[in-house]
Amino acid sequence: MFDVIIVGAGTAGLSAAIYAVRAGKTALVLERKTYGGQIVNSPEVENYPGIPKISGFEFATNLCNQAKNLGAEVLYEVVVDIKRDEAGVFKITTENNEYECKTVILATGAKNRPLGVAGEEALIGAGISYCATCDGMFFRGRDVAVVGGGNTALEDTLFLSNYCNKVYLIHRRDEFRGEEKQVAKIRERDNVELVLSAKVVELKHDDVITGVVVESTKDGSVKELNVQGVFVAIGQMPDNQAFAKLVDLDDKGYIIAGEDCRTDCEGVFVAGDCRTKKVRQLATAAADGAVAALAACEYIDAQ
Ligand code: NDP
Repeated sequence: MFDVIIVGAGTAGLSAAIYAVRAGKTALVLERKTYGGQIVNSPEVENYPGIPKISGFEFATNLCNQAKNLGAEVLYEVVVDIKRDEAGVFKITTENNEYECKTVILATGAKNRPLGVAGEEALIGAGISYCATCDGMFFRGRDVAVVGGGNTALEDTLFLSNYCNKVYLIHRRDEFRGEEKQVAKIRERDNVELVLSAKVVELKHDDVITGVVVESTKDGSVKELNVQGVFVAIGQMPDNQAFAKLVDLDDKGYIIAGEDCRTDCEGVFVAGDCRTKKVRQLATAAADGAVAALAACEYIDAQ
């Protein structure tokens, strides 16, 4: 019986593990894929207080090692169901095992939002990518497009422009959601072309991507860009359907909770990007981890 089981080993989940074990509780972190969550794909993190510059991968590795060295257990298993019995004990079923715990912290983050253009799924790995740092090197010397206007798209554009011949940055508005500082850096790059107020309406391909057709959101005109790679960076979506019977979700699928990270189910807390919140940042994910873990400890101590 664990005191706390945390679902998700991203920044929120691992921060929660650190706070739980330091409060003297036993903590198990269950992760579907690899530790670190979304930040592992960030080449440079420059806005985490106290750390002027670090790669996302190094940040995540430090965080995971810190949690494990303090005594948290991290296992790579997919959680398929969570049930609370009459005594308030949670039974967590993974694809291979079953675990019991006194409290649960959901920290499942979010997954990449697809473009929703015909053929996209079949072309993943054949020109469509959701991770510039993972796949960018395959497009060295080639022409590529990045789609999106947030910090991920801006970072991806800067990263890819270091290696690719040309980078088109396609965004549906003419103002960026991401940081102005990054936009200014992009404007200085000779091999980046901004394609603004435009949306991708078609993927051109044979076995692999050969181009994209973009349509102006202002006048409906269309043009084709010859690219061999398309990096989709249009935000994330939550992935909480497995917990829909346990906790309330909003209409977009985020777990409903306030800044206290408490859900409507007693003993279940939520941390990071998977909950309803306005600011989804590394610092707020870490903060949620601390809040959720301390709330879980308080709940256990009050039993
Ligand atoms: P965001 O949600 O910030 O941005 C998504 C972008 O995609 C927006 O510009 C949006 O356009 C556009 N978009 C959404 N849906 C569509 C669609 N269907 N078709 C075309 N475009 C679409 O996501 P990010 O992944 O960029 O960032 C997520 C969070 O992580 C943010 O808070 C960000 O600041 C943070 N982050 C921080 C980093 C760092 O600190 N180093 C690095 C990367 C991300 P519109 O603007 O018109 O809504």
